[in-house]
Order: sequence, then structure tokens, then C-alpha cells
Amino acid sequence: MHHAASIPRPDRSGVRPTVERAPGTVVVTGAAGFIGSHLCERLLADGYDVVGVDNFSTFYNRTRKEDNLRTARRSRRFRLHEADLMTADLDAILDGACGIFHLAARAGVRDSWGDTFAIYTRDNVGATQRLLEALRRNPVPAVFASSSSVYGDAPRLPVKESDPLAPSSPYGLTKLATEHLARIYVKEYGLNVVSLRYFTVFGPRQRPDMAFTRFLSAALAGEPIRIFGDGRQTRDFTYVSDVVDATVRALRGPAGAVYNIGGGTPASLEEVLLHIAQAVGASLHVEPRPRALGDVAHTWADTTRARDELGWSAQVSLEDGLGAQLEWLRDALPVLAAA
Ligand code: NAD
Repeated sequence: MHHAASIPRPDRSGVRPTVERAPGTVVVTGAAGFIGSHLCERLLADGYDVVGVDNFSTFYNRTRKEDNLRTARRSRRFRLHEADLMTADLDAILDGACGIFHLAARAGVRDSWGDTFAIYTRDNVGATQRLLEALRRNPVPAVFASSSSVYGDAPRLPVKESDPLAPSSPYGLTKLATEHLARIYVKEYGLNVVSLRYFTVFGPRQRPDMAFTRFLSAALAGEPIRIFGDGRQTRDFTYVSDVVDATVRALRGPAGAVYNIGGGTPASLEEVLLHIAQAVGASLHVEPRPRALGDVAHTWADTTRARDELGWSAQVSLEDGLGAQLEWLRDALPVLAAA
């Protein structure tokens, strides 16, 4: 099997390798998704050859995912394997790669109850275990997408990576399980895996089940906006390009490390709705619904570790990011509505 030179990792002091970057081939799982498609574009812009893997899971519409991939597909350095991580030939996919970003998952808190939990265990826990086995045979640096949901209702805010992990939803539990799997494989097999706990990500291509996409679409259509809970819950909203930047940096993070990746300025849904009303230039008709099971009250990331060890900090404000998401939605709505 051919191995490209793997990217050297700095030690915990954060010292960077002297060779700044040697573009090669990297793999992105979940490439057709919201965050994965942005990540592919960034890696292509950085000079990498990118192998995307995605099974176009039916959680949401394929048309949206095809639209997500439009820009990446224009590059000759992009290849997509339409494949399921539970059955794909992962050795062949990893062959020749110098790193992998594992973003494929079944996301979303609200659907993770009841019978659909089986999908979460399969696509999150099962698929990650299978990937870790493939990484044993082809040990290249890997970055895994985890989630703020591993904390549940954190006892203090901003939450630190070392704080207790007590997910409030079955989804959060599966993301915590993938973190633990990674930790075990790092310890026992010396794999190079870094896990990133993303905090509520927003921006163009945000998934259709997520709040901003639902709010903005309803506002544009003049339809009522349904919110779960009283609107006073706060989230540490994180713009997608900031998440992507952290993800790229993490490929050189120390093996086994875990980082919070959060925007750093939490806002309540009420505040978000005010911004949306202003951006759309219309008053909104809000319909409160009962709090969704598994939703936590507040999230807020302490990102000191990501700053100190990855040199990362969030750059895009809530207002600017919302503006960009609104602009995208205005352009994309005809395509998405036709689906
Ligand atoms: P997304 O649903 O848009 O993207 C995930 C992609 O993975 C989809 O395109 C799906 O088809 C693919 N996929 C799912 N199961 C697969 C399988 N078995 N084989 C191959 N492909 C498969 O979700 P997203 O919002 O872009 O999230 C990306 C990652 O970030 C996920 O791991 C998610 O848990 C994590 N995350 C997201 C957020 C957020 O706010 N969006 C927050 C925290 C963590």
C-alpha cells in the first residue's frame, strides 16, 4: 500500500512543523453535507487533492447536497465516492491520503429519539468504529467532528473541554461515544485523531432542520416562525468558515486532543429573531412551541485551548454570518423549492 508522507504533528506546546504544508490528498467524509462541502472547497483552495465520501443519506434532500457540491465539483482535484462508510472499501479510500476529516454523521438532536436512534448508532458509532479500524491499517492523521452536545446542560459556562460530559440527547450520546472510541484507538493503537466539539454552526448551506435556515426561510416566505421553547435559550453560534478553519488547523493538532470550537459570543433565539427581522426588513410572526426534548438551555464554549494550541479564534460575527446565510438562501431558494 502506498503511503503519502503524513503531516507531522506539533507537540502539546503548539510548536509548528518547519515544513509549512505539503499539499497531498485528503479525504473528507460527509463531503456533500453543510460543513463538509465548505471544508472541501477550503482544502481545494489550499492546494490539496480532495476525495469526498458521502452516501447522500436521506436525512434531508439530495438536491440540497448536490447544490452544496457544485463548487467543489468544478475542480479537477475533487473526486466524490458515493459510498456508505458502513460498507465502503475504506482501505482503498485511504490509500495515498495524507489525512482524513471525518464529518459524516447523522446530525440533529430532535430526531434522535425513538426508532431513528438506530440510524444514529449506525452512522455515528458504527461508521466511526469502522473508520478507526481502517486507520489502524493506514494510520494517517484524522480530525473527527464532535459536538457541544456531549456536555448536555453544562454546570458552568463557558464550558471547558475538561468539564463533565453528560449529554442530554441520544444524539449527544452517540457523539460522545465516537469521541471515546477515538480516545481508545489513540491510546491502544497510537492513532492520530483530534476531536473538535463544534458549537451550533451556521452560514450558507446550513441544514434544513436547523434554526436559522427554518427561521430565515419562513421570514422570506412571510410564514410563521416556529420556535421550540421560550426563545430565551442561548447558543454559542459559530460561523461555518471559522469551523472549517479550525478543522484544517486541527489536522496538525496533537494526537488525542479535544477542542471546543465556538463563536464565543452566545446569543438567545430572541436576539437572533431581532437580527432576522432587521435583515429581512419585515416584522416576524413567531409561534412558540414546547421545548424540544434534549435541547439544552445554554451553550458557550471556552476556546482558550484552541487558541493556544491551534492558533485559532472565531472571526465572523453573528450579524455578518446571518447576512451571508440570508443572501445564500435568497439565491438558493428557487433551487431548493423546486426539489
Ligand atoms: P450534514 O447532515 O449536512 O452532513 C453530514 C453528511 O454525512 C451528509 O451529507 C450525509 O449524507 C453524510 N453521511 C451520513 N451518514 C453517512 C454514512 N454512513 N456514510 C457516508 N456518508 C454519510 O451535517 P453537518 O451539519 O454538516 O454536520 C457535519 C458534522 O458536524 C457531523 O458529524 C455533525 O454531528 C457535526 N456537528 C454539526 C454541528 C452543526 O451545527 N451543524 C454542530 C456540532 C457537530
